[in-house]
Amino acid sequence: MPSQSAATLRRQPAAPSPSERILSWGRYPKIAHQHVHKPAWNDQLPDILRTAAPGSLLPYGLGRSYGDSCLNAGRELIDCRRLNRILGFDESTGMLRCESGVSLSDIIDVFLPKGWFLPVTPGTRFVTIGGAIANDVHGKNHHCAGTFGAHVRQIGLHRSNDGLVICNPEENPDMLRATIGGLGLTGVIAWADIQLKRVAGPWIDAESIPFQSLNAFLDLSRESNDRFEYTVAWLDGFAGKNPRGIFFRGNHAADYGKEFHPKRSPKLPFALPAWMLNRYSVKTFNTAYYRIHAANKSGAVVPYDSFFYPLDSIRQWNLLYGKRGFLQYQCVIPETNVEAFEELLDRIARSGMGSFLGVLKQFGSAPPAGMLSFPRPGLTIALDFAMRGERTLKLMQSLDEIVQQSGGALYPAKDARMSPALFEASFPRWRGFVPYIDPKMSSSFWRRVMGAQ
Ligand SMILES: Cc1cc2nc3c(=O)[nH]c(=O)nc-3n(C[C@H](O)[C@H](O)[C@H](O)COP(=O)(O)OP(=O)(O)OC[C@H]3O[C@@H](n4cnc5c(N)ncnc54)[C@H](O)[C@@H]3O)c2cc1C
Repeated sequence: MPSQSAATLRRQPAAPSPSERILSWGRYPKIAHQHVHKPAWNDQLPDILRTAAPGSLLPYGLGRSYGDSCLNAGRELIDCRRLNRILGFDESTGMLRCESGVSLSDIIDVFLPKGWFLPVTPGTRFVTIGGAIANDVHGKNHHCAGTFGAHVRQIGLHRSNDGLVICNPEENPDMLRATIGGLGLTGVIAWADIQLKRVAGPWIDAESIPFQSLNAFLDLSRESNDRFEYTVAWLDGFAGKNPRGIFFRGNHAADYGKEFHPKRSPKLPFALPAWMLNRYSVKTFNTAYYRIHAANKSGAVVPYDSFFYPLDSIRQWNLLYGKRGFLQYQCVIPETNVEAFEELLDRIARSGMGSFLGVLKQFGSAPPAGMLSFPRPGLTIALDFAMRGERTLKLMQSLDEIVQQSGGALYPAKDARMSPALFEASFPRWRGFVPYIDPKMSSSFWRRVMGAQ
């Protein structure tokens, strides 16, 4: 049998698989099946784009978005996970070129031992470069480093009508700004140049400090932002207007010299029954968590993974919320409106539906890297809510009112239900973004916020 050359193999168009049930991280919404293309090579993308129907495609990374921004109900996804090659690295500058399906975890594994780290990282390392750019993700260093997009120097973007478009601050700068935070709608990112950051090693000099009011949190945050590269707080969602929590802050430790052995994470094998998660079990967990950390108020040198990615220590922890899944509510509220923030916390506490993990962070004032970037100056909070049907959705609608009236915004990467009106209020520049959408792209999220489904 004649053998096929590698080049011939590459050029086979990747036919979509039979429809698959793909869920996002929140496992809500449970939408209809989607056909999935699984290209292994970037040069298969032009065929996929050319032959697709208008508005039928959406790139997909590791599905760590919580709601429907990575879903395309009844249409097609392009699973980019096999586009996972590192294409080049300049050891003297830390400039990395890689394909868009490379994960942050891959980058850490390869480059941290060489003394380089991610310039910005979200709370999980299981995110692709394409996903990190398309949601312009933020991390614990937003106050000093801005978002992930601020460290993207150049991208190659496959578009159905223009071929491979090179975007950098000189060439197609507007397309670059549209693609950063562009929710996968401007085309498929083929590769990206990312500026990594020099670090001494895998250790973080960390401190945790208990606090018992929003003002105490703000004082800690303001006092820490000049001295600490990373700041974030955990908040007890049951505590109401005067929330207690633990403030975490840290810097990369100068070479600590201790050998580093990453741990393997245990995995939840199946969705837990819904009765296990109720206001009593969550309250008990929150109280215990607070007491343990408050008692251990201290500084310590800790491994980077427990500092940045505590949730990654249990793989598939999303199954904890049972078969109906969960929603994460992440908003930002301007700091001038602390009362609105207090009201939000109060409504959550009174609802009795608070969650294990409330994450609180003061965003910095870095200008947005993308046209639809979410971070802006203010206080951001992210809280998980088990999906309990109408009750959960009603609570969220009532939180939306506070966010909208206070001039705040909701984060699309976490959203499965915001109204078109709230989207417009959150992203007033969305009309300027529309001309950059690739005519072959669409998503469940986009159709919903455009009122088109
Ligand atoms: C435990 C946990 C903690 C998190 N913490 C944070 C946090 O601290 N800060 C934060 O900002 N976010 C956070 N997130 C959200 C997560 O970082 C984002 O949703 C991220 O975009 C997910 O990337 P992904 O690779 O899974 O992409 P997906 O979720 O699969 O897709 C996300 C978007 O990227 C687009 N996309 C994917 N690949 C490409 C490509 N090649 N070209 C163009 N578009 C593409 C998709 O169309 C979609 O719009 C967290 C998520 C989890 C589960």
